[in-house]
Parts: sequence; structure tokens; C-alpha cells
Amino acid sequence: MPLAFNNSYASLSDDFYTLLAPTPIRDAYLIHANASLALELGISAEMLHSEEMLVCASGGAPLAGMQPLSQVYSGHQFGQWAGQLGDGRGILLGELNGHDLHLKGAGKTPYSRFGDGRAVLRSSIREYLCGEYMHQLGVSTSRSLTLVGSSEPVWRESYETAAMIIRTAESHVRFGHFEHFHYGRQPEKVKELADYVIGKHFPGVNGYADWFTEVVKRTAHLMAQWQAVGFTHGVMNTDNMSILGITLDYGPYGFLDDYVANFVCNHSDHQGRYAFDRQPSIGLWNLNALAMSLSSLIDGADLRNSLEQYEPTLVDAYLKAMAARLGLPNDIDEDTEKLIAQLLALLEKEACDYHDAMRTLAEDEQHFAALFKNQDPTDWLTAYRDKRTPGEDAREAQRNKNPVVVLRNHLAQRVIGAAEQGNTTLLNSFFEALQQPFTMPVDTQWLEVPKQEDKSLALSCSS
Ligand code: AMP
Ligand code: MG
Repeated sequence: MPLAFNNSYASLSDDFYTLLAPTPIRDAYLIHANASLALELGISAEMLHSEEMLVCASGGAPLAGMQPLSQVYSGHQFGQWAGQLGDGRGILLGELNGHDLHLKGAGKTPYSRFGDGRAVLRSSIREYLCGEYMHQLGVSTSRSLTLVGSSEPVWRESYETAAMIIRTAESHVRFGHFEHFHYGRQPEKVKELADYVIGKHFPGVNGYADWFTEVVKRTAHLMAQWQAVGFTHGVMNTDNMSILGITLDYGPYGFLDDYVANFVCNHSDHQGRYAFDRQPSIGLWNLNALAMSLSSLIDGADLRNSLEQYEPTLVDAYLKAMAARLGLPNDIDEDTEKLIAQLLALLEKEACDYHDAMRTLAEDEQHFAALFKNQDPTDWLTAYRDKRTPGEDAREAQRNKNPVVVLRNHLAQRVIGAAEQGNTTLLNSFFEALQQPFTMPVDTQWLEVPKQEDKSLALSCSS
């Protein structure tokens, strides 16, 4: 049976997009297909591995019923108004079971500016892996359905090869979409887009102000999740912020290794604007930019009221997420807050690996205590023991909040190096491990923490 695609975005007025077909890549071959995501989308295994799908996933003929288009949007980049951006290398193919299918690396579009419209294998692998991992960690995220490689050369800092992913998300509408029409002095388009987004994704809200409050809360939740799992996005520009609070646009992201609160993963971010511990405040900065572009729809007092929900929502969600990681009761009090803050201070001072320390705590307190050579964690552990939910069920629940497998940059780099040589065995193995992050992997190399020189690797923005 053919897949039943929707193309609701194409029903918006013409100003929102350009209809166009992708540009295929040379000698395309399927590197990986996400079977569990396909199942959720109602795509059969046969269809997923069909020639038709490979052709579509490499920029050839779209599947029947798709209506490919590139979206236009603008944005603030590193705090500055950047003007029009848009899908410079992405094409929305169509919507399937409530999810956009978006082809990234699909060739030039009217919004490509100086870019070549391509994505390299390296960054496509990174996005492919991280969407899946974040999903397994319970963080709202885009996920990828297919990863396709090619022999097509692409110039970045050196020659690399082009790749494409079909990325899925409930929506690809970004804060920058609203900014585009606001600063383009088209308030009627701001309204058209808000009506579309509300109608499709926020059926329960009562008016625009109520909707914006929801957006604020979703963004706060997302930031809380990122902080709890130790994820640094790296490029929190408003064009990378989802209106649904979904993690979008994986670039030079990084998970913490040692707990370093001000970790910066993007080596072009000289000011540390998007440092790990600044993400919550940048989330609010971005919401303020969004509020400005909704000022034709929602009055100032209402916008401010909505924005005021951000901090309490974020703090509550973060403390709850951390309490779960620590096996502490869900009703947060001052003691819980103190335990969390003190633990992070201990980890930072000792330069402990964030993930391993958290998991060790869930496994064995004595092993946890042995991580400390320069400080005595006894007082903290005593207070912690008093507060911790007792029993084996609670321990099991705690382990299931603390991954053993972490998508560390040096491991991703290992997988990428092999894939660039045509060997995808490591990629398959890492993907499997990332899909079950709370379970010991078959291949124990995925447990490796980096050597000192590979720690908290900062990555180039080029992708
Ligand atoms: P990013 O911050 O990576 O999400 O990208 C910022 C903007 O640059 C978006 O509008 C992208 O579509 C565009 N862009 C990034 N790389 C390319 C490329 N190679 N070709 C064309 N546009 C690109
Ligand atoms: Mg982007």
C-alpha cells in the first residue's frame, strides 16, 4: 500500500516556501536505516529498504504523494539579527503520520546563500546518531530515518563526501519563521503561521497568549532536559529553536565528559555564548526574540506574563529530572535542591566524568566515594542516603535514568573515521548501543571515557 503523505505546509500561502525538487547525489548508497522509527511511522521494512526509498533518500524522485518544498525563515545568530536564512540545504518532502520527512543535504535552494546545499558524511552521522540517542534518553528531538552516503566530493576545511539524512520531527517550524514575517512587516503572515501551528499542534490552547505560554513551557522543559542529560547544543540561534520545543539541527554539539559547567563545544563560539551552563538563559533570550515577533498578535503584558513562566517551569523540570537521576523523591524540597547543587560542585571540583559518576552513584556508593581523591564526599553521602528512596525497585528506576552509553565526541569520531573509509560496522554497533543506553553494550568500547587530550572536544561549525 502506498504511504499516505500529507503536505499541510504547502497549503500555507506562497510566501512561506518554494516548491522544488532535491538535487540527487552521485553513487548514493544506504549506510543505515532506522527500523524502529520506520515502524513508528508505519513504513514497512520492505519499503524502508526498497530502491524507491533509496532514490528518494538520496535526492532522486520523491515518493508518490510527496510535495517537496523549502521553507523560508530568518533568525538571530549569536545575538545578532541575521536576516533571511531559510532551508539552505533542506527540503521538506512531506508529512507522514504526524511527522515531517525532511531531506537534509538535498542541494541548493533559493535560501542557500553562499552554501553548496550539501551536508557531509561526518555531520550527517553525528545528527543521525544523536537524534536516536536523545530520543532514547527521553529528550524531545528530531530523529533520522535514513542515512545515505555518496562519492560526491564536498569542500569544507578539506575534501569530504556528501551525505543525506531524512530527518523526522513533528514540525520544522522555528522561532525564526515568526521573526521572518514580523521583521518583514507582514503581521498577517505571522497570524497565518500561528493559526497553522496552533491548529496542527496545540489543539487545547485558548487563544494566542495561552499558546505562547505553552511554547515558553515547552522550551523551558527542553532546556531542563538538556541540562540534566549533560547536552550542549552549540548553536542556539533562533533559527535552530523549534516552536514545539524539539531539539533540532545537530551541529557541533557535545555531551559533557568531565563536569565542566561552562563547557563550550562549538569552537567558533569565542564568547562562550552557548556554553553548557548558559543554555537556560539563552533559551529565555530566544523566547524574548520570539515574543517580539508575536507582538502584533499578543499584547505586551500577556507576553511578559507568559515569559515569567519560563524560570519556574525550567527549575521545577530540572530538579525533577535530577531527582530522578539521583533516586530522590519527586516532591522537591530545599534539601533535594541542596543535594543536587552540592553534588555538581563536588563533581566539578574533582573533575569527575559527569555520566560515569552519576551511574556509579546508582550502582554502588562505595565506588562513588572512591572517585574522590581531593575531597571527602562522606557528609554529602550521609545526607543523600537519608533522603534517597529505599529499595531495589528504586535502584532499578535510578539506573534507568543514568545511561552507561554516552554519545561522546571521541566515540562518534571513531565511527566517522571508519565510515569515511567505507567501514560501517562500528556505526551499526554504536547505533545499537545508543538505542539501549541504560544497558551494558555488547561491545564495551562504547563505555570508554576519553583520554585527557580528547576530553570535551570542541568541534568546528562546518557541516
Ligand atoms: P545551521 O546553524 O547549521 O542550522 O545553519 C544556518 C543556516 O545556514 C541555515 O539557513 C542553513 O540552511 C544554512 N546552511 C548551512 N549549511 C549550508 C550549506 N552547506 N548550504 C546551504 N545552506 C547552508
Ligand atoms: Mg539550522
